[in-house]
Amino acid sequence: MAAIDDLVLELAKLPGIGRKTAERLTFHLLHQPRERISRLAAALSTVAERVGACPECGNYCEGERCPICTDPRRDAGLLCLVEEPSTVALVERSTGYRGRYLVLGGHLSPLEGVGPDQLRIGLLKRKMVDGGVREVILATNPSLEGEATATYVHQLLSGSGVRVSRLARGLPVGGDLEYIDGVTLSHAMDARQEVS
Ligand code: ZN
Repeated sequence: MAAIDDLVLELAKLPGIGRKTAERLTFHLLHQPRERISRLAAALSTVAERVGACPECGNYCEGERCPICTDPRRDAGLLCLVEEPSTVALVERSTGYRGRYLVLGGHLSPLEGVGPDQLRIGLLKRKMVDGGVREVILATNPSLEGEATATYVHQLLSGSGVRVSRLARGLPVGGDLEYIDGVTLSHAMDARQEVS
């Protein structure tokens, strides 16, 4: 049936979900009361309509700017540089960090055709020109691409007078910050070291 096939196809495009799981989820949904399916559909279309990128930091937001950029109690002199919005959520959840963020939108990857122009490097440069940032905390993933991206940003900022720090070592190498527990991440943030 076309309607069922369409849903299976869409679900199978999600990460970690193959065709079999997509079918299982589809049949699970069909077993649910109709209003439950409608609520899920409504939540999806609301996200599609209302959620965009904050022009100040690149994090997801509803409305003009995100709650972190509009919060006057957050220290605008601290800028934590991350690859994806999911890392902002992770740092917020697990550390006491009270500065702001810049979401690059990925990492440098020449093989995949991702250069500085495909990331929010322009936004970072604008923030440096505007001034007010004392420290940039490099919180890219501890992977090869994440390290390369951090090195690029460090070189970009050298001579700018802005302190550049990196999350403390001890994070598992080759992984994604997503897989690190909150306590480890919190320690890595507190014990961050200046990059020389
Ligand atoms: Zn923002």
